Amino acid sequence: MPRAEVADWRWQLRHAVRSTDQLASVLDLTPAEIAGARAAEAAGFPFSITPYYLSLCDAQNPDCPIRRQVVPTDSEMETAPGDMRDPLGEEAHEVAPNLVRRYPDRALLFTTDRCAVYCRFCTRSRIVGNGGGARSASDLAPALAYLRAQPEVRDVILSGGDPLAMATERLVSIVKAVRDVPSVETIRLATRVPVALPQRIQPELLAALRPLHPLWVMTHFNHPNELTSEAGRALELLADHGFPVMNHTVLLRGVNDDAETLATLFRGLVRHRARPYYLLQADPVRGTGHLRTSVQTGLDLMDQLQGHVSGIAVPRYIIDTPGGLGKVALAPERVVSRHGGVTRVRTHRGIEVDYLDPPDSAE
Ligand code: SF4
Repeated sequence: MPRAEVADWRWQLRHAVRSTDQLASVLDLTPAEIAGARAAEAAGFPFSITPYYLSLCDAQNPDCPIRRQVVPTDSEMETAPGDMRDPLGEEAHEVAPNLVRRYPDRALLFTTDRCAVYCRFCTRSRIVGNGGGARSASDLAPALAYLRAQPEVRDVILSGGDPLAMATERLVSIVKAVRDVPSVETIRLATRVPVALPQRIQPELLAALRPLHPLWVMTHFNHPNELTSEAGRALELLADHGFPVMNHTVLLRGVNDDAETLATLFRGLVRHRARPYYLLQADPVRGTGHLRTSVQTGLDLMDQLQGHVSGIAVPRYIIDTPGGLGKVALAPERVVSRHGGVTRVRTHRGIEVDYLDPPDSAE
């Protein structure tokens, strides 16, 4: 295949692998993967993998951390206790078509249902890949009218699907329409494109978006193997064009649930000027029990990272509460005791130290 074609993001999307037979011609699929892929093809949550992202998968190893993120298995047909179709209650919090508001000053705008890859842990598996493609201007008109009428919403997150999987012209026109709402200060682009389709991050795209700053990019690197030279170049270009890049890592069983993998990922992101922002406890999405860890695993991992990895490389550990009631930050317990103005804490070395409040402070 000519290099120029492979480097073209449109070619990557056109040649994304979407059928079980195609997938089986590239990877040695297990019976569980074949059953999962056939079920995904027949109904429900489809799969789609760009040739680039597929090239990061180990063809012989079904436990490959990249492969586990995008290749369906028959475990997706199982429902665990607590699994939900819409774990963040987005349908209940829809304030206008394509607009979800769960916080006073923020709102989430659905711009498309299409993505470069369909992640098997996706919170929106109920809609992505099956919901009609990029939203038109008239589709988004009620959402924009709502934003104009609600000036306390200052921060709008463009999501989907993946907004950067849309054509540049469509993306820019949506960002401009949101930017034209006088009360909107910050616009965020929530995207896995730098991970799964870094060829999309081109100077032409960034030059078209740059006049619409402040624009933040919220991306989702989950494993250090995703930090290839192509992805690194995409992150560097974003930083060079003035886009702050914040990364959400979803904590996934068999992908990144060990401290060394996370430390390598977070340090790599910082080297490319992307800030590890959240380590997200995986949402209890229907059919993802095989990919989720316990909360204790997350707390233990944070305990191993804090103090051992530079503060700018350690994200906050977050549970997005089921039902859409908001995010809660969790941290390993470091307070040993607290009374009489003396707080005893445990350091990352396991040493207990007292901190004394000033004498005039009320207890
Ligand atoms: S790119 Fe985002 S919206 Fe699309 S499938 Fe992955 S997690 Fe879901």
